[in-house]
Amino acid sequence: MTAPLLETRGLVARYGSVQVLHGIDIAVPQGEIAVLLGPNGAGKTTLLRAISRTVSTRGAIEFDAQDITGRSAARTARAGVGHVPEGRGTFVDLTVEENLRLGGLARPRVRRASAGQDLQLVYDTFPVLAEMRRRAAGLLSGGQQQMLAIGRALMARPRLLLIDEPSLGLAPLLTRQLFDVLVRVRDGWSTSLLIAEQNARLSLEIADRVIVLTGGRVAAAGPVAGFRDGDVIRHAYLGDAHPAHPEAVGGRDTATRAIGDKK
Ligand code: ATP
Repeated sequence: MTAPLLETRGLVARYGSVQVLHGIDIAVPQGEIAVLLGPNGAGKTTLLRAISRTVSTRGAIEFDAQDITGRSAARTARAGVGHVPEGRGTFVDLTVEENLRLGGLARPRVRRASAGQDLQLVYDTFPVLAEMRRRAAGLLSGGQQQMLAIGRALMARPRLLLIDEPSLGLAPLLTRQLFDVLVRVRDGWSTSLLIAEQNARLSLEIADRVIVLTGGRVAAAGPVAGFRDGDVIRHAYLGDAHPAHPEAVGGRDTATRAIGDKK
C-alpha cells in the first residue's frame, strides 16, 4: 500500500488533567472517505481537533509524509488540512459568497490565482449555494449552512477535510443528500475526508473506511466491507469481538493491522 495521506501513532490528548485520547493509531489513505464512529464522549471531536492542531497532543501525526505534530493550527491548515467543526460557524451577517471568499484566504500561495475557478467549482458542487450567493448566511437552512461551511473549507483547497458531525440537526433525507455531495467532493476535488458521525447507517453507505472509537481508543478499524452488516459496529461499541470479522475488531494492535489492509 502507498503511504497513507494521514497517519497518527500513539496520539494522546487531554483537557487539563483529564485524558481523552489514549494512544490513537489511525490511517487515512489518499482519495478515501473515512468515517469516525463512536458514542457520545468517545473522543471523535477531540481526534479531529488533534489532527488540525487545535488541541495539543503527544504522539505522532504525519500528513503527506511530513511530521505535523509540532505545527500550529494555521500552518497545518496551509499544509492542506481543512476542518469544518461541529456547529458550522458561518458568518451569519455576510453573504454566502462573502463566506466562501473568506475561505479562499487560507489557500496555498500556488493556488491563489485560481480562486475564481474554485468558487465556480463550489457552486457546481453545491448548486443551492449558487442560487443563494447574495443572501445572508444566517438566512440559510441548517443543511444549506452545513454545505456553506464545507464549501468554505473547500475554498482553501484542502487535501484532507475533517468534518465534525455534518448530519447534526438534519432530517434523514437532507443527510442523505449531504452525504451524496461528500462523495462528489471526494471524487471531484481530490480531497480525502475524515468525517466524525453519529449516524452510522447512512455514513457507512458512503464510507471507504471506518474507524470506531470508544472511550478514547480505537475499538475497530478497516475497510468498510467488514462493517456494512452493522454487527461489527455494535460489537465494537460493546467492546466485544465479533466472530465473523475477527480481523476488524480488537485491541489497538489488531485495529492498526486492519487499517493497513488494502481495500
Ligand atoms: P460527541 O459525539 O458527544 O460530540 P465525541 O466523541 O466527539 O462526543 P469529544 O467531544 O471529543 O467526544 O469528548 C471526549 C471527552 O472530552 C468527553 O468526556 C468530553 O466531556 C470531554 N471534553 C470535550 N471537550 C472538552 C473541553 N473543551 N474541556 C474539557 N473536556 C472536554
